[in-house]
Amino acid sequence: METNHDEKICIIGAGPSGLTMGMYLEKAGYKNYTILEKNDHVGGKCNSPEYKGKRYEMGAIMGVPSYYAVKDAMDFCGFTYDGPQLNRNYKRLDGSVYDPFDPKKPYNIPKLPRLMKLKNQMKKLGTLLETKYKGYDVNGHRGVAEGRYEGFDANGTGEWVTGENPNLKDLALPFKEFCELNGVELTQDIWIGPFTAFGYGYFDEIPAAYVLKYLDFQTTMNFVRCNLWTWKDGTQHIWERLNDHLAHSAVLNQTITKVERRDNHVYVTANGETTEYDKVIVTAPLQFMPDYFDASEEEKNLFSKIEYERYDVLACLPKKGQYPPISYYMFDNMAVKRLGHLMVLYCRWKGEEDQVITTYALRKHKDGKEIPYEECKQTVLEDMKICGCEVDKVINEQSWYYFPHVFSEDYKNGWYEKVEAMQGQNNTYYAGEVMGFGDMDETSQYSKELVYRFFK
Ligand SMILES: Cc1cc2nc3c(=O)[nH]c(=O)nc-3n(C[C@H](O)[C@H](O)[C@H](O)COP(=O)(O)OP(=O)(O)OC[C@H]3O[C@@H](n4cnc5c(N)ncnc54)[C@H](O)[C@@H]3O)c2cc1C
Repeated sequence: METNHDEKICIIGAGPSGLTMGMYLEKAGYKNYTILEKNDHVGGKCNSPEYKGKRYEMGAIMGVPSYYAVKDAMDFCGFTYDGPQLNRNYKRLDGSVYDPFDPKKPYNIPKLPRLMKLKNQMKKLGTLLETKYKGYDVNGHRGVAEGRYEGFDANGTGEWVTGENPNLKDLALPFKEFCELNGVELTQDIWIGPFTAFGYGYFDEIPAAYVLKYLDFQTTMNFVRCNLWTWKDGTQHIWERLNDHLAHSAVLNQTITKVERRDNHVYVTANGETTEYDKVIVTAPLQFMPDYFDASEEEKNLFSKIEYERYDVLACLPKKGQYPPISYYMFDNMAVKRLGHLMVLYCRWKGEEDQVITTYALRKHKDGKEIPYEECKQTVLEDMKICGCEVDKVINEQSWYYFPHVFSEDYKNGWYEKVEAMQGQNNTYYAGEVMGFGDMDETSQYSKELVYRFFK
């Protein structure tokens, strides 16, 4: 493929995906890029507002040591993670504390056979992922539905790996079915914490590919051991710093009303002004791209299949004396029948009062059930009371457009292969969360891959 480093490239969106796209393009020698952002700030869903001089998290919170693209961004700017250690305990529905995994706790004695079985199934799944599902953990989804893998290896060595493995087709199944097929159904007890509680949906609806590409075995073990990264000034600050280090910082407050692709060029109209580019890379949600692009029937059709989660966050100030000392997980609320309930509360600064405590709830399931926003909010506030953290004031709230994905049928029928086949057509490239996964590293990894594949 012919490459021209002087090409004028428009990147839409200044979240982790768009900003790392700029960084990787720069590293590859492309200096003529412009990042257009609709908001008055960068970072997208890495959103860290301030309260009394400290930043709290409305969006992304943490990383793990295998966040290699986030590390690339930190290395590029010369800083590292420096945030508070995460501490958590588990709460029952009545608000009492327990540890569902500690075999030494007296209340777990009746559950010992199940805990032993879980341990064996964890081992079995670990082995299956290395053997039967070799290649499962490379970034991105292209080829999976056809039994292939292709991408940078998951160990951060920078090695490009490819191979055939027909078993990978199983990854299109909902994770629950995938586990049943492989006789490891109890492992869902471990994966559910960093998956469902983190807003990524329920195991009976989400294809195993998303679950396992995000929560590969190594990453899951890091969550279990609380071997996690946070940032003192919030995850948004990672992207603010990257934005400051780029040759071309993002252009903010841009309302894009039209993108036309003709005469081998791309014409982008933002804030009423039209600019000509050679190429456009979309990192903003692809689902809404047809609203402002001269989208083809294929683009419209494929992007209409994207679904997303309604993941609600409340920034709360509990009443005096009612602050949680650390974060809480409520496993019983991670079931579909408890849709709309508090799954996690995040206490950022251990033991400190007068800090913002954030709460997390999902309120939609594939079967069509959707809890109205206000109802969910009231339920969560009730749950806070049950946990002994009655809320005095909600100072910020957000229902996020979260974790865009496709369901099993579309995954199996080659949604990703069809979108990947369109890459580069009409001088257009597709990136962002849905192409990899909805976390800050996978979406940035995808940017790295896109540059590697098309902008040498
Ligand atoms: C509550 C919550 C908790 C999370 N926790 C974690 C976590 O702990 N760890 C983790 O790794 N990830 C976490 N995430 C996910 C992570 O924040 C996202 O996956 C990541 O930010 C996605 O990056 P992105 O650039 O692909 O998309 P986004 O972050 O969504 O950025 C897209 C950008 O495009 C802009 N945009 C949209 N439309 C247009 C348009 N038409 N024109 C111009 N610009 C446009 C948006 O304003 C935005 O800035 C969390 C997210 C939320 C909401």
